[in-house]
Amino acid sequence: MKRYSVILSLLLTMVIILSACGGDGNGNASGGSGDGGKGKVGLAMPTKSSERWVNDGNNMKKEFEKLGYTTDLQYAEDVVENQVSQIENMITKGAKAIVIASIDGEALTDVLQKAHDANVKVIAYDRLIKKSEYVDYYATFDNFKVGVLQGSYIEEKLGLKDGKGPFNIELFGGSPDDNNAYFFFDGAMSILKKYIESGKLVVRSNQMTMDQVATLRWDGAAAQARMDNLLSANYAGEHLDAVLSPYDGISIGILSSLKGVGYGSGDKPLPVVTGQDAELASVKSILAGEQTQTVFKDTRELAKKAVQMTESVLNGTEAEVNDTTTYDNGVKIVPSYLLEPVSVDASNVDKVLVEGGYYTKEQLGQ
Ligand code: BGC
Repeated sequence: MKRYSVILSLLLTMVIILSACGGDGNGNASGGSGDGGKGKVGLAMPTKSSERWVNDGNNMKKEFEKLGYTTDLQYAEDVVENQVSQIENMITKGAKAIVIASIDGEALTDVLQKAHDANVKVIAYDRLIKKSEYVDYYATFDNFKVGVLQGSYIEEKLGLKDGKGPFNIELFGGSPDDNNAYFFFDGAMSILKKYIESGKLVVRSNQMTMDQVATLRWDGAAAQARMDNLLSANYAGEHLDAVLSPYDGISIGILSSLKGVGYGSGDKPLPVVTGQDAELASVKSILAGEQTQTVFKDTRELAKKAVQMTESVLNGTEAEVNDTTTYDNGVKIVPSYLLEPVSVDASNVDKVLVEGGYYTKEQLGQ
């Protein structure tokens, strides 16, 4: 009997030691978060009303899950308070890191303090988060270059470099609470300004500053209403030759307004209209000869970058960055990685978007 009880207690001891060694074969206890993986990452996206953010969210979710994280993906429908409370929830529910594409870049100071207090890491996604020191990294595109591509496209299409003109142009800006909007506008104006000064480009409305041309929350309907006003006040008997538009949703609004007063039919050709994001409706519009150009930003690559940055920051290592001077958020310069935007028009849709696997020919109705 005695021998049996010795063997029994030996077995029991072994069982206790083995279970204490925990989940993986390396003797490490499995993660304490209860999700069995690497922990949770929050993804706070601005709105589902634009395709790009839906793609961004889904791409990141997929990448993070591939690496063994769980994700909490939330959209705030462009309401700042929603976004703040979604981020608060993510912190409460134990996210280790949160990737944020902000609605209002200056509205997250308090909630990022809470994130910091709970040791939650923060990556700014596409849009800079301002007025907080608790932004670890910023993954984005070369936003100034986006504007340069739009401005240069107008320059080339109108033949401004060859001395052609004068042409009439109207300018649209993005949302004034989004830091990117200023970079896009400044980039475009770095090309267009000289032609406005020399009289080769004429802004008949005289609205040329961000204060005058901004479009709150990038709202296409607001842009359409502004275009209606610009046309009726300044273009009776005059032809509009170009519109600087910073984003496809805005371009679509502008085009409806133009078509409403007869552009695109008879002897009234549509103006050159730029855009951004290569959204499906705009790519189709480009193929139909309406919108002229867009700027493609590969959201798959941006998602990968943000995921790498998050992994680095969670592992306590440095993430790869390629810009440590541009993005001053008012408290610090946020170390950034800038990806390259690409100009797309009817001539390279196939090469860039179809061959690049972003859209299928069927999606484009080809
Ligand atoms: C993004 C653009 C987008 C715009 C409207 C900006 O912050 O950089 O890609 O077109 O927001 O959603």
